Amino acid sequence: MAKIIDGKLVSQSVRDDVALQVKELNEKGVSVELAVIIVGNNPASRTYVNNKKKACEATGIVSVEYALPEETTMTELLALIEKLNNDNKTNGILCQLPLPKQLDEKMVIAAISPEKDVDAFHAINTGHIMIGDYSFLPCTPAGIMEMLKYYNIEIEGKNCVVIGRSNIVGKPMAMLLLQKNGTVTICHSKTKNLAEITRKADILVAAVGKAYFVTADMVKDGAVVIDVGMNRNAEGKLCGDVDFDEVSKKASYITPVPGGVGPMTIATLLKNTVTAAKQQNGIES
Ligand code: NAP
Repeated sequence: MAKIIDGKLVSQSVRDDVALQVKELNEKGVSVELAVIIVGNNPASRTYVNNKKKACEATGIVSVEYALPEETTMTELLALIEKLNNDNKTNGILCQLPLPKQLDEKMVIAAISPEKDVDAFHAINTGHIMIGDYSFLPCTPAGIMEMLKYYNIEIEGKNCVVIGRSNIVGKPMAMLLLQKNGTVTICHSKTKNLAEITRKADILVAAVGKAYFVTADMVKDGAVVIDVGMNRNAEGKLCGDVDFDEVSKKASYITPVPGGVGPMTIATLLKNTVTAAKQQNGIES
């Protein structure tokens, strides 16, 4: 039976560290502030934003919400981002995705100042990740790396398979595993013989967005299985991309959903916000 990788436990240790750093900054007269932009009435976005704000408050980070109506125009949103880019008090800017249809997400991401881009979605920050020289890491992959480190899971020389190639999860995940000397394969919807590839994985990361997609026959005995998925099953219950009940009988380590990758994503956002505040105030990390 696999050992559970406890995202709540690991994220609490990251949050404790963030709270300590915020306290030290406050004592130097530096406050840490995150602007959280939410556009429209997407209920999932509202939940994510509330969770992020709550996490900020718990660690002493000031979060300021900018809730814009569903019909917000590109001009209005870009004007707000410009204002926040130029506001010295704002250290980090997060614009919750997805955005309503009339808004161009690529343009919005590009408008956020790279120094305040705590989600690390801006092309300048993704470029830094490619060359292995970065300030901010995208929250979900960085959170996964933190969990692997916490559980002393060796990456060097291991076969790492990432299912999914999105800009926010799959691609940066692959890059971070590569930087730690994993031998990395990225799979996607056009990959042939997927199960043959995943069965070779020592570390398997599923970022597909399909409930119970990874079944036990796709997993090698003793593999480390990281489940990024956040899906609803037929009963409306939150579940991952991995068939946890069956796969946990074969894996050596596995992340549950909920309580695995999700809490780490938020913890990394807090960490990035502190990094941004330090950099903007000329304080070394
Ligand atoms: P995404 O942009 O929809 O990407 C999904 C990826 O899965 C794509 O690359 C797609 O391939 C691939 N895929 C789809 N069907 C496949 C198949 N049959 N075989 C192999 N690959 C397949 O999703 P995302 O933003 O990366 O998110 C993935 C999941 O993680 C979602 O459930 C999301 O809610 C969750 N998530 C969780 C967190 C967290 O904090 N826990 C954070 C972010 C995302 P193509 O590129 O070929 O289309």
